[in-house]
Amino acid sequence: MVKAKEPGIIHFENLDPGFCNEVASLPGGENIRKCFACGTCSAGCPVTTIDEEYNPRKIIRQILFGMREEVLKSPVIWFCMMCYRCYARCPQQVNFTDVMRAIRYLAIKNKAVPADILSNNDEIDRLSQLIRRDMVKHTIEGRKQVIKEIKSKIDNVMESNH
Ligand code: SF4
Ligand code: SF4
Repeated sequence: MVKAKEPGIIHFENLDPGFCNEVASLPGGENIRKCFACGTCSAGCPVTTIDEEYNPRKIIRQILFGMREEVLKSPVIWFCMMCYRCYARCPQQVNFTDVMRAIRYLAIKNKAVPADILSNNDEIDRLSQLIRRDMVKHTIEGRKQVIKEIKSKIDNVMESNH
């Protein structure tokens, strides 16, 4: 019988021993078993610094233990900013950012994503795309201005040489 969830308590009966294999079989999840729980990923994660509930090392342990439901239904798996800091710093090349992509894929495939998380994420994506677009526009316009100034200097030099 599946036991009711109590925060912080792991019930052996609720664990899915195949969960880790499932994650490891997906693109990005291949190296999950290499993790030796050093915590470097959590220590450098910008999301963990603002919300301790989000902890890459803990998420990896949960996957290795087979805590399928806890992981796939957890809203925190949608907090990752995909900044690749953990990826760059991991001494074991676990590639946690890509592990996170695999977990999200499974959460969507298993329809385990809370509806409010989906709508919040849509809104965050929309706003971040708008900011990105404005930044790209600003950069391109800045470059155009620099090119214009260089051209003008070249024209002045050419004219003074005639
Ligand atoms: S940095 Fe790498 S090895 Fe260390 S806990 Fe994170 S994923 Fe595991
Ligand atoms: S990719 Fe995600 S888990 Fe890794 S450091 Fe960035 S926010 Fe944290």
